[in-house]
Amino acid sequence: MKQSSRINVNLMKDYNKQLVLRTIQKYGPISRAEIANRIELSKPSVSEIVSILIEEEWINEKVPKVKVRGRQPIPLEINKHKKLIIGLEIGAYSNKIVVTNLKANILEEIEIEISHEKNPIHIIEDLGSRINQIVSQYKQSNIDVLGIGVGMHGLVDTDTGKNIFAPNLGWRNVEIKSILEKLTGLQVLVDNDCNSSALAEMWFGQGKDENNFITVLVDYGVGASVINEGKIFKGSHYVTGQIGHVTIDSDGALCSCGNYGCLETKTSETAILRSVKRNLKLGGMSTLQTLYSDIDNITIDDFYEAVNAGDELSLSIARDVARNLGAGFSILINLFGPKFIILGGSLTKISDVILPIISDVIQLKVLGEDAKETPIKSSVLGRNLYTIGAASLIVEDIFTLPKLN
Ligand SMILES: [Zn+2]
Repeated sequence: MKQSSRINVNLMKDYNKQLVLRTIQKYGPISRAEIANRIELSKPSVSEIVSILIEEEWINEKVPKVKVRGRQPIPLEINKHKKLIIGLEIGAYSNKIVVTNLKANILEEIEIEISHEKNPIHIIEDLGSRINQIVSQYKQSNIDVLGIGVGMHGLVDTDTGKNIFAPNLGWRNVEIKSILEKLTGLQVLVDNDCNSSALAEMWFGQGKDENNFITVLVDYGVGASVINEGKIFKGSHYVTGQIGHVTIDSDGALCSCGNYGCLETKTSETAILRSVKRNLKLGGMSTLQTLYSDIDNITIDDFYEAVNAGDELSLSIARDVARNLGAGFSILINLFGPKFIILGGSLTKISDVILPIISDVIQLKVLGEDAKETPIKSSVLGRNLYTIGAASLIVEDIFTLPKLN
């Protein structure tokens, strides 16, 4: 018996309904005919499913913008206000809670500084009670919250929702999911911020039309996420994507992971600021010297501004960072062959300077003529990448396709 004939009819119906819904979420506004084209389902089947989805208030019909002769195709759109999502970003320095609609448009945002003295469990409990307050406000207006997506720094066991190790916070084995679910009664999904950001790119950013790509985040740390056939490539042992900890200089500086010369020690915000200050102390000339009486006060944004203003010392440090990132990106391309790589994180503020250099290094180091041309794109989601990413964990869960076998 062929595999497909064993598939339960109801399951197939559910699958097709979910496929139509997912297509409208991703590509809406979109007409019934365009949906049928994209997913190779007959127009009558699409129309039938669309009627059900409208009745269930998952989607809306929009008024067509352009008038055409004959029958007008009606654009369909997700009813983005049907349900809300809570996104929680747990970073190295601060936490952010956002409320978003199904399109991950941010409706409300609260930022809370992290107290490093506090017990991590108390921090999570505090976040949980803040979320409860927010949810109860929306419940008064009869709007449901579907769940909480948590994007955080470090290694995360996505099955149990436990943060195994967050080096910049000094956390180990923190049961994020179970604490938050107990406190709020909502579904909670936890992943590391690289993976959640990759989902944000896939649903709402530069990765919308592609199923195989890689995202690299560079800020206080450096990490990657591989999207393979429209899914996060998980691998084993929770370490997949830790490109920040590949050795690119065995004589290099000590890394937060305990090794020497990791990519992170050359390209993270901390590494950049260390290099800026060392150069200035050695007598390097730069506009950064005139900003503060104490060079230790120079911030990463000061550096980015100086780069974009053409400050020579800052430019030469930026070029160095780009060459090292190019080496890291080349490793990713040689291993996974992505269609493109998306750079996210604060370093995108100097994308104009660094992306061409990264591409030059890729030309040198990557095998195969086509792979040498792998495009490097800059994320367009900006600072919201992390919170949109956290909310995207729930989006991915709602709109995911059921398994057929
Ligand atoms: Zn390391």
